[in-house]
Amino acid sequence: TREIHLAARPHGTPTPDDFRLVETTLPDPGPGQLLVRNRAMSVDPYMRGRMNDSKSYVAPFRLDAPLEGGAVGEVVAAGPDTTVEVGTLVLHNLGWREHALVAADAVQPLREVPGASPSHYLGVLGMPGLTAYAGLFRVGALQAGETVFVSGAAGAVGSLVGQFARLGGAGRVVGSAGSAEKVAFLTDELHFDAAFDYHDGPVRDRLREAAPDGIDVYFDNVGGEQLEAAIGALRLRGRGALCGAISAYNATEPPPGPRNLGLMVSNRLRLEGFLVGDHRDLQGEFAERVGGWFAAGDLVVRETVREGLDSAVGAFLGLLAGENTGKMVVTF
Ligand code: NDP
Repeated sequence: TREIHLAARPHGTPTPDDFRLVETTLPDPGPGQLLVRNRAMSVDPYMRGRMNDSKSYVAPFRLDAPLEGGAVGEVVAAGPDTTVEVGTLVLHNLGWREHALVAADAVQPLREVPGASPSHYLGVLGMPGLTAYAGLFRVGALQAGETVFVSGAAGAVGSLVGQFARLGGAGRVVGSAGSAEKVAFLTDELHFDAAFDYHDGPVRDRLREAAPDGIDVYFDNVGGEQLEAAIGALRLRGRGALCGAISAYNATEPPPGPRNLGLMVSNRLRLEGFLVGDHRDLQGEFAERVGGWFAAGDLVVRETVREGLDSAVGAFLGLLAGENTGKMVVTF
């Protein structure tokens, strides 16, 4: 079987040389272990951070060892002292490989959602979905009738934030993304009220056109200029849910911060960073509500799918370069 190792710690933007495809053989599952054949794996922006040798909320990836990340696979063999049956589809964290030897207590059998395919549990029904849900409704505390702005709006998290906002009663939903095609996707398919390409800056001006009366909630996937523009547009007692800052993930020097933080005082703003892991208690509510919207066909779920482990590195590099619309996944 094959797996992908981190061969070198990327400096700035990662390149294919930072990764290595390795042939390996796996032993039979021992006590408490399962052998899983992966069917889909996730590539996520946070993985870029784990490639650095720096302290964070997750440990760095080890060099010359397989990468890890969300994956869905089928149990093909079960060791002694396990209760998961062969044939079960499970969610686990040993992606970046065709087969995984996983501790049985580290897998989650997939809950049935009508119409869902394995990769959906890595996107709308999984971690990115819960991120969008918790960030918008709990951290952003969206109220009916309010105006929401989300950056990275055509990505996995952002495309759900915009749709959840509409289903949750927002008055106006505005998004930004990196190409004309993505802007058309937002307005034509996801029914955002307005959208713009952040390359057509200054973002402050584009945002003022898209939300002339200002915004109440900003869902930040990007940081940098877009965060500064959003702070400028937030109305009295506006909220910013700080989810990620992908515009800086490949930076070799920290970028300058927003220059208008003084507005937080005069407008009594609240900017709050969050991690999806802090909001696991919402899992039940999320599964019920979003699973319901999904099963009812109320959500447009776009994925960008690459085939086979050989394409995993390209999928990750492409994610950082904006080649995805919706969730980027690799299927086997
Ligand atoms: P996406 O599907 O949104 O993919 C990443 C996207 O980022 C690309 O498609 C690209 O789209 C955009 N991008 C890349 N470079 C830049 C740039 N310089 N400026 C603006 N946009 C850029 O990824 P996810 O939905 O999985 O993640 C979105 C954000 O949420 C990330 O910041 C991630 O780290 C964060 N996150 C945080 C979590 C938490 O617990 N706090 C959990 C999950 C995700 P485009 O073409 O529009 O540029």
